[in-house]
Amino acid sequence: MTNNSPLPCDVLIIGGGPAGSTAAITLARQGLDVVIIEKEQHPRFHIGESLLACNIPILKELGVLDDVAAIGVYKPGAEFVTDTGEGRMSFPFRYAIDAQADHAFQVRRAEFDEILFRHAAKAGATTLEKTRVTKVTFTPTATLLIEARTETGEMRLFAPRFLLDASGRDTLMLRQHGQKYSDLRNNKAAIFSHFRNVPRAEGEGMEGYISVHLVQGGWFWMIPLPDNVMSVGFVGDHESFKHHGGSLDALFWKHVQASPSVQARMAKAEALAPLSTTGNYSYKGDKAWGERYFIIGDAFGFLDPVFSSGVMLAMKGALRGAHVASQWLLSPQWGRKAARKAERQTRQEMQLISWLVYRINDPLLRYFFMRPKNKPLRMRDAIIALLAGNFAPSWRVMLPFRAFTVIFGLAKRFKHS
Ligand code: FAD
Repeated sequence: MTNNSPLPCDVLIIGGGPAGSTAAITLARQGLDVVIIEKEQHPRFHIGESLLACNIPILKELGVLDDVAAIGVYKPGAEFVTDTGEGRMSFPFRYAIDAQADHAFQVRRAEFDEILFRHAAKAGATTLEKTRVTKVTFTPTATLLIEARTETGEMRLFAPRFLLDASGRDTLMLRQHGQKYSDLRNNKAAIFSHFRNVPRAEGEGMEGYISVHLVQGGWFWMIPLPDNVMSVGFVGDHESFKHHGGSLDALFWKHVQASPSVQARMAKAEALAPLSTTGNYSYKGDKAWGERYFIIGDAFGFLDPVFSSGVMLAMKGALRGAHVASQWLLSPQWGRKAARKAERQTRQEMQLISWLVYRINDPLLRYFFMRPKNKPLRMRDAIIALLAGNFAPSWRVMLPFRAFTVIFGLAKRFKHS
């Protein structure tokens, strides 16, 4: 076969991040002929280091749990910190309703993503790196035509029976065949780096906790990584970043200084790399699938990472995407049915997280979030379940929040009338 005749395969996956590799492992294990194409070379840097307890059963099922445990910091829960009256609130995963695991891990994504990608190769997928998919063409026959270019400029052609787009925030299929809607109410950007000499969360058994500091104008994450490294990032309004005028460093340290709780922890911080930034926050696609393709992970939608939900959503979506692909190969009719269901589930999960993101950004509702009570609805344990990635008990959280919003709204209207 020459390089110019398209290589046939069952499923081609664009992108070797957590979504792409999860789907590749799952499908290759079913004996399908899978090709996964990554534009970079693993290990490569990626932000998004804090996993959730609901990742644990997935990692176990994929057969990589021990490898991930070996590179990760044990994470028993999450703490939220404010500079105002609420102080600190910790949410240990072990109290989550229907806890699927009592911990998660925090990982360097370069290592985590490489473990998954190499595991896809072990499972039987063909893995290509330093190769970028440049074009997807729908042919009138039963195949797609995928064009990719290697780093040296060599063109590669593929003719898969089904395509999974896991291209992350590059959103390849949405840009080529769909539409991307930005959430302008949540148009955020982040500045981040790795630091030394940042103390971990205080308290017995708390050293593996992620700390989320809810501060004026945004929030900070502090994610403990191996070798006493702390990943620290600030998320704020994109507009305020644009109009800041000064350097990235000046902006970051201005926000550190503005928060007593963050400043105290960053007093002796030493940056291990220059600060990086990312924008293009909070979007979702108009459609997650079409004839012979399905979109998974960040390639379909992205949410403010305040609840560290990205990797878990990407992996859950990938399992669904793999199911859609295998159904489609059996019968396009079954595939369409599976695709409709998978899209609906993905949208529901995203809606729930973004609902919570707005609540935590509202100072008044944040007050309740920071003082959750277990009586009568086990609201605290339901919030922990959400923070662990289990959405089933969410009604216990939404009900009181919604009731409060209505009562507060009525009270406001009454006051102004
Ligand atoms: P990605 O991990 O982005 O993988 C996509 C892959 O596709 C990449 O490797 C890319 O190189 C490749 N690719 C793209 N285009 C092409 C192409 N044309 N051809 C070939 N390959 C291509 N999530 C968490 O769970 N916890 C966190 O603490 C967290 N913090 C975050 C902080 C910030 C500031 C941001 C921006 C995100 C954070 N996230 C976090 C989200 C998380 O990083 C993502 O949700 C997750 O990486 C999604 O996985 P994915 O596989 O869909 O995409």
